[in-house]
Parts: sequence; structure tokens; C-alpha cells
Amino acid sequence: MTTISAISVFCGSRFGDPPAYRRAAEELGALLAARGIRLVYGGGSIGLMGALADAVLDGGGRVTGVIPEFLVKHEVEKRDVTDLIVVDSMHARKTRMFELADGCIVLPGGLGTLDEAIEVITWKQLRLHDKPMVLVNIDGFWEPFLALVEAVVGGGFAHPAVRGLFTVVDHVDQALPALEAAPETNPEVLTSHL
Ligand code: AMP
Repeated sequence: MTTISAISVFCGSRFGDPPAYRRAAEELGALLAARGIRLVYGGGSIGLMGALADAVLDGGGRVTGVIPEFLVKHEVEKRDVTDLIVVDSMHARKTRMFELADGCIVLPGGLGTLDEAIEVITWKQLRLHDKPMVLVNIDGFWEPFLALVEAVVGGGFAHPAVRGLFTVVDHVDQALPALEAAPETNPEVLTSHL
């Protein structure tokens, strides 16, 4: 069992369509607040990211935003978070978000979300960490990604064990139990390389 006191969530800077994506972000935010788990996220106030952070704050929970200086204007830095960390690059943002969290949840999102999710998965493939990761497959959103992973494995470009680098759940309320069910993270993993 992994003890989860903070999680990073990657999700869209737009709401996407159908509205089930937005409802999922709000539901996850309420769950985190109710469980006293700190949200670590990209620090913006737009799209699913903003809806998620608002739901945590509305529920009385704690939110740490991590945003690169140059995005402060575009993603409309969310000023009412518990802590806002301004970093100097996208890479620093991903690394900082990841360092601060005990695990990672990925909701639907765009290319930025894909980049973030794939980078954290590849860090795990390289054994730079073994933090648990959960993809929430709202309305089958992640099916094309899962098919691509199968194509990569089928094409001989990845070991079949890569399927075990992340867990897929269908509903937001399964995400925290899935993270907690992961084995305790291995302290020998070299996170100093991140
Ligand atoms: P998106 O999923 O494209 O709406 O973006 C979600 C979040 O990912 C936003 O905070 C973006 O700033 C961020 N993002 C966009 N592109 C990248 C990238 N290349 N690397 C890391 N994060 C990104």
C-alpha cells in the first residue's frame, strides 16, 4: 500500500467535450479535499485544471500550483491557491510537480497533458522513480493512447511490462484506491536523476 498525502494531476487547459470531463475534474477535486490529500497541479485557472483546483479549494482542501513564468499570463495564474511556485521552464514545472507528489493521476487533456503523462511514464520505464500512476479513462478517452501503447509493444519497441507502468480506471472514484493499492515506492530508486 502506498501512503498518499499529495498527488499531481495532469489534465487539460480546456474543458473538452463531453461535459463528463469537467464533472470528473470537479468530482476528483471534491474527493481530494474530503480525503485531506494535497493537489499539486499546473497552477492555471483555465479549463479542467482550473475546475479541479476550484473544487479542491471549495471543499476546504490544499492546492499547490507550479507554473512557469512565461505561462503566468496565458494560463491565468490562479492566485487563490494555497501555494504557488513559479519556475523558469516547462521541464522544471513537470519535475517540481512530480517531486512534490506521492503519485500521479491523469485526466483527459490535450497535447500538454499527453506530454506530461508520457514523460512521467518514461521516467518510470527508466527506473528513475516508481511512483504510482493512474489514467482515468472517462468515456473511453484514453482508448486511442492504450491502442498506441499496444502497437508499440506489438511492434517490438517496448517490453510488454510497460503495460504495468500505469493503471487504468474508468471512474474518478477508483483513482485514489488504485494509487493506494500500488506497492510502497522503492526508496532505492534514483529520483535524484530527475
Ligand atoms: P493541454 O493538455 O495541452 O491543455 O495542456 C495541459 C497543461 O500542460 C497546461 O498547463 C500546459 O501548459 C501544459 N503543457 C503544454 N505543453 C507542454 C509541454 N510541452 N510540456 C509540458 N507541459 C505542457
